[in-house]
Amino acid sequence: MSFSAIVVAAGEGLRAGPGEPKAWRLLGGRPIVRWSIEALLGAGASDVVVVVAPDRLAAAADALEGLAGWRAISGGKTRSQSVRAGLSALRGSHPVLIHDAARPFVTAAHVERLLAALEAVDGAVLALPVPDTLKRGEALVAETVSREGLWRAQTPQAFHFERLRAAYAVWPADEEPTDDASVAERAGARVALVRGDPMLMKLTWPEDFQMAERLAGSQRIVRTGFGLDAHRFGPGDAVVLGGVRISHDRGLVGHSDADAGLHALTDALLGAIAEGDIGQHFPPSDPQWKGAASDRFLAHAVALAQAKGGRILNVDLTLVCERPKIGPHRDAMRARIAAIMSIPLDRVSVKATTTEGMGFTGREEGLMAQAVVGVEIPL
Ligand code: MG
Repeated sequence: MSFSAIVVAAGEGLRAGPGEPKAWRLLGGRPIVRWSIEALLGAGASDVVVVVAPDRLAAAADALEGLAGWRAISGGKTRSQSVRAGLSALRGSHPVLIHDAARPFVTAAHVERLLAALEAVDGAVLALPVPDTLKRGEALVAETVSREGLWRAQTPQAFHFERLRAAYAVWPADEEPTDDASVAERAGARVALVRGDPMLMKLTWPEDFQMAERLAGSQRIVRTGFGLDAHRFGPGDAVVLGGVRISHDRGLVGHSDADAGLHALTDALLGAIAEGDIGQHFPPSDPQWKGAASDRFLAHAVALAQAKGGRILNVDLTLVCERPKIGPHRDAMRARIAAIMSIPLDRVSVKATTTEGMGFTGREEGLMAQAVVGVEIPL
């Protein structure tokens, strides 16, 4: 189901202690606001409006660089003013999810549960039953409160767009709701309680950030991709391999520059993120890739991985040929690949081997490259 989302990131987060407002702090190396945006885009959001403080529009562009499908707008002094601003920026009759940037661990599974529930009701909130005994009091207990039927409401919260907009239209401007569901409830909306998740903790107090940092590691997995390519030798005086031009008594035949090394690497990276293969992205039938330098193919795959929140851990390229000798050019290839992929040199391996005269590489009809790439990516 198509949906749009409003991510509220305009708060000061005063309870979180000194420093940057919490949405802009780093968690697992990424700005906290980016976690939610990546997850919502990954879950299929067609339009994500990020509501930020007026002086944070540039910061949002930096924090969300490389992602497509979001836009930032200025929020108001209170959370509800920011939600109202987000609602006015949206069009259409899609379901809308309202989410607090301070809950970074939202996943596609949460979104699916909300959208499924929304088919039968006006709104749906992720919520957890209260497991602890509840006390009311100050320094001393005044009473023990029954927890029966009590839930902790989380975000995202999902609504039919017009229903929520109409509810906000009649909500008093001088009253601040603690969540969006309460606005809808007062307007008579039926709001479903949907199974929430302890991982959807709200970063509020300084100690929450330490716990979140530990959880952040558990929310990313390592995926591996494999790539293989071969090109035929033909007339020429040089080959391009691993992004490096090497003088040789023959050339390599191909539609682009025939750099089998970078092609194998590109396919390995596309494989790790399950984004098809190099031929799908750069069809050989398309004349614009004729003679093209292959670094742009690899850079394109890197950009796709980054857009998914991926971080390239390592690459390992093996070139299989009798000649030219790779050893003298190994470090130049490593440096070139590291530069194209924007990763440190010590994460790039280039190896070479022969097939001892056997097969097409042994007969020097052509050469082959195999590559493995490791990518750390959100779960
Ligand atoms: Mg190729």
